[in-house]
Amino acid sequence: METNLDRSPPITAADRGSFTKAVLAVEKLTKEKIWDCRMCGQCILHSTGMSCPMRCPKNLRNGPCGGVLQNGNCEVLPDRPCVWVQAWEGSRRLPVWRRHMEHLMAPVDWRLQGTSSWINFWTRRDKHMPAGWKAAGERIGGHR
Ligand code: SF4
Repeated sequence: METNLDRSPPITAADRGSFTKAVLAVEKLTKEKIWDCRMCGQCILHSTGMSCPMRCPKNLRNGPCGGVLQNGNCEVLPDRPCVWVQAWEGSRRLPVWRRHMEHLMAPVDWRLQGTSSWINFWTRRDKHMPAGWKAAGERIGGHR
């Protein structure tokens, strides 16, 4: 029986050289301070109105869960605004990338957690995704 599960590793193995460590340190320092980044290694800030989706307690990458409270706060952390409400509002203010909110995001690849999304972007490690998901994304016009 054929399966769509793709368990192959990312395109390149993790590089722990000094250059990689330096880039990682700069990214971590700046993005944690500005966006409360959780270093997922596959940044989609431009598709989420510059609101980090990994701050969502459910780590949702394609919009809110449906449990958003009437005041726009999170159902899990009711004293905090839903990151997806912030994402929508933020995307309306962006001079570019507004339409990226409509793109379908691939499932998060937890093997990239703690690595540099900048390096993963340039090496295309963040483009790895299950074959079935890739086909679905192409059908509906997703970009990742
Ligand atoms: S999407 Fe990932 S890399 Fe981008 S700010 Fe959020 S945790 Fe950091």
